Amino acid sequence: MTRARAPVVLKFGGASLEDPGRVAADIRAIEAAGVPVVVVASARDGVTDLLTDALQRPRSRPRHRAILEEIERRHPGLPLAGRRHLHRLARLLSEVERTPGRDAPLADRVLSQGERLAVHWLSARLGELGVPGTPVEADHLGLITDNAYGASCILLDRSGPAVRRGLHRLLARGRLPVVTGYFGRSLEGRVATLGRGGSDYAAAAIGALLGASRVELVKRHVAVLSADPREVADARPIPELSYEEAEELAQFGARVLHPLTIEPARAHGITLRVRSLDDPAVVTTISPPRPGRRNRALTILRPLRLLRLRVPGGRQRPGIVAEVSERLSAHRVNLVQLYTSSALLCLVLDPHQVVPAIRALAPVTRDAAAMLDGPYRVAIVTAIGDGVLDDLATIPESVVAGAEGFSATPRALSIAVPLARGSRVLRELHRALIPPEPT
Ligand code: ASP
Ligand code: MG
Repeated sequence: MTRARAPVVLKFGGASLEDPGRVAADIRAIEAAGVPVVVVASARDGVTDLLTDALQRPRSRPRHRAILEEIERRHPGLPLAGRRHLHRLARLLSEVERTPGRDAPLADRVLSQGERLAVHWLSARLGELGVPGTPVEADHLGLITDNAYGASCILLDRSGPAVRRGLHRLLARGRLPVVTGYFGRSLEGRVATLGRGGSDYAAAAIGALLGASRVELVKRHVAVLSADPREVADARPIPELSYEEAEELAQFGARVLHPLTIEPARAHGITLRVRSLDDPAVVTTISPPRPGRRNRALTILRPLRLLRLRVPGGRQRPGIVAEVSERLSAHRVNLVQLYTSSALLCLVLDPHQVVPAIRALAPVTRDAAAMLDGPYRVAIVTAIGDGVLDDLATIPESVVAGAEGFSATPRALSIAVPLARGSRVLRELHRALIPPEPT
């Protein structure tokens, strides 16, 4: 018996599902070369937003009914198995209406319905186009996550045997699995979502488990650009990135990738390709680093707040940084960035964490006679790319003027600037590090 060829995992985002004809053509092109395909699908565009809305207060029956109708309208021609999911969603929403407070596992059950509807809808459309798909729901398949509802992590070891068995069985019968992204089944056996944009992460994990020859994340319009095109008009596609560069990019706020997407691919040496459905020339390949390659991309995180903690005689006070971080973590305050000098600690955090942070640090300001000032409104602009420290000399003065903090590794260089200057700094740094191409 010949060994089955390694499959390609194709993940289609909500917006790329608008055009099932293109999706079918994409799948056909790969299958024509004798390579098996596994599809991972997000919810249709806007559906996860509608479901998120349905979980907000006030939770009224008429509002839920309107949301259900809108979701139904976005899945025309749903086959019977898919229609069952609409009914299930209606039942879940009545449960939401009866449930006081926030119930994270219930919320995840509601949110997962978008992807379930999508795979049934897409499989039916693909069937009409001559590429019949078999809908697969990831929790039933055995994609196992931890119990962190709303932001869970996939447990690769636990998921491996069942996911491989289930998908290989379908592939062996010549079927095209169309798997839900965005969620799995928790260790407690409940539905758990991976956080917004989590279908990329699910696709990377499934690719890693199957030993896929590559995982393609198909976006409607763009691949990975040198900056958000809404901020920087001459942002351009980045053809290649190392896993580490892509990871920094996702962590520093490039919304094009879910932050956990890279790790399973890196750990299993699987190439990720982010590409545009509209324009086949726009592709970003994410793989091991290649010497001599220079990539630069910029991100901006905002709005953020900066607090300054002055510790008199800081250097003579061993353990002060540890004490500050322990107190913050005890109050569940997550630092976005920390800048330190001997007597000054600058803490950058999300706006909603300012009050808990001040509360957490009260003992330090009282007992250690430290002084806290702020919050100041800031944005963090980050330049990413191996060897980025070599670019220090090319950073224009206007970028650094009035900066509130600075941090750098050989791969990511971040500057905290007053919030109002964030966009300008981003554009100026882009011009300096990624000069416009000669026309
Ligand atoms: N549908 C989910 C979301 O919109 C997951 C995804 O699109 O990746 O966040
Ligand atoms: Mg989506």
